[in-house]
Amino acid sequence: MKRIPSGSPAAILSSLLIMLLLSFAAHAEELVDATADYDTNNVFARILRGELPADIVFESEYALAFHDIRPRAKVHVLVIPKGQYTNILQFNQNASSDEKLGLLDAISETARIMGVDESGFRLVSNTGQDGGQTVPHLHVHLMGGEHLR
Ligand code: AMP
Repeated sequence: MKRIPSGSPAAILSSLLIMLLLSFAAHAEELVDATADYDTNNVFARILRGELPADIVFESEYALAFHDIRPRAKVHVLVIPKGQYTNILQFNQNASSDEKLGLLDAISETARIMGVDESGFRLVSNTGQDGGQTVPHLHVHLMGGEHLR
């Protein structure tokens, strides 16, 4: 096989391609299993413990709402329960009525605070592998502020 001389444009291009592929691989996020036990070290658990910063929109006894770090709409806020639940199924099965109402209240309050209660918004809660969930703490994406496709 013919070797590519080092320092040649072809060698530089192939090094750049390899670096690009490696950086994509490093950033590929792991998907959460829908049946996984709660991981107390997940990023939202750390936000709840005050170990990581968050741009908070609303907080109550039961829930916290903060801006998504990578917004995909003009308004993109995550609303999470304070309890340890991996997803909506575990929340529905194990949370108390007060916790459930607390999450619903937090969603409504967040919509009002963000000024989308009249214009409308979208709620999404990705669950498990096929849902594309990447953070193993129940979260509801509240998106709006523009016409969503
Ligand atoms: P999902 O893919 O449904 O699990 O969504 C996880 C969301 O969390 C993504 O939209 C991320 O941008 C968001 N996210 C991850 N880390 C942080 C963080 N430290 N602060 C705010 N949002 C975050």
